[in-house]
Amino acid sequence: MFKKLTADYLFTGKELLSNGEVLLLNDGGLVEAVVSANEAGEGVEKIEGIICPGFINTHCHLELSHLKNTIPQYTGLVGFVQQVMAQRAADDAQIQQAIVLAEKEMLQEGIVAVGDICNTAHTIPQKQQKKLHYYNFIETTGWIPAMAEKRYEQAVHLLQSFALPKSIVPHAPYSVSEVLWEKIAPHFANAIVTMHNQETPDEDALFQKGEGLFLQFYQQLGIHNPDFVPSGKSSIQTVAHHLAGAATLIAVHNTYTHANDWEWLLHWAASNKVQLYAALCVNANRYIEQQVPSVSAMLQMGIPITIGTDSLASNTRLSILHELQTIQTFFPDIPIATLLQWATLNGAKALGMEAYLGSFEQGKQPGVLQLTGINIPKNQLHHAQVKRLL
Ligand SMILES: [Zn+2]
Repeated sequence: MFKKLTADYLFTGKELLSNGEVLLLNDGGLVEAVVSANEAGEGVEKIEGIICPGFINTHCHLELSHLKNTIPQYTGLVGFVQQVMAQRAADDAQIQQAIVLAEKEMLQEGIVAVGDICNTAHTIPQKQQKKLHYYNFIETTGWIPAMAEKRYEQAVHLLQSFALPKSIVPHAPYSVSEVLWEKIAPHFANAIVTMHNQETPDEDALFQKGEGLFLQFYQQLGIHNPDFVPSGKSSIQTVAHHLAGAATLIAVHNTYTHANDWEWLLHWAASNKVQLYAALCVNANRYIEQQVPSVSAMLQMGIPITIGTDSLASNTRLSILHELQTIQTFFPDIPIATLLQWATLNGAKALGMEAYLGSFEQGKQPGVLQLTGINIPKNQLHHAQVKRLL
């Protein structure tokens, strides 16, 4: 017994079909096939709008959900990091309640899988309910070389608490000392690794010239890294060699990544056999820096793009569709099918979940979304709404 679904358009994860093609699902919700209207036979259910596989959120911090509406907008990244450090402590019940609500929002928004950054064990109870697929990125930070051993041990301990899939990852070039890099780098071998990348111009200023707000910030906090010497290169070019053993690198934000860095990264990824993905979190970029990355240029250069929401500390919603709408506001020429592929199949590939999520291919269980209010001929997403069918 199959469920047979058709709509005005059917997005497979790769392409937008418009000739009445039918999605066949078996009783377990597994995809059997996408067939033509003629082959589908009787009992086809026709719905309005677009049928689409479930969305993949490649960058979130579920454990920061209790910071919703606490950090002001437009602080700049350094101000934002200061605020998160000052405000993230809260009582456990408040943290847990916010995690439950945030996950519920992601479910309602059609998200089926999340690449989630973990600095604490707070999200484990909710993740054990298996309402969503999670890739757990255990994040390490530490700019003081003498702290590296302790921070490394904490990360290894936390890693053991989380279910698969999981890996140890660096927070950002400006927050990981050389000693800490050397401790965590062996964990990257054949793993999926993610890192916040070039979220503010101060990041490159630190590595290129030893200038910018990060130095002031570290001085104020009494954080000294005597090993640090500016490399004269961009932040990503300075630290990438530590990541060369990874199977996949998901570079997050990339708000200030210039074309020459992308060219360098594409070459670096090819020569080290690293699958490179960019995770865009445009609503967070606007919230913090009032800036968006050069998305059209990234598309033209062939950067594989995925979509993240970042956390409720820097976003008002955890909605992939809302991220796509913001991208479209700034880059109206990007075809909707391209945006939807970033939100589905590309995300599933980046998180190593393409065997079961991201597209309507036989044997997958990617979830089924109904998208309404999208004007395909005019390439307009602004009135779009998402409803979860499966
Ligand atoms: Zn983040």
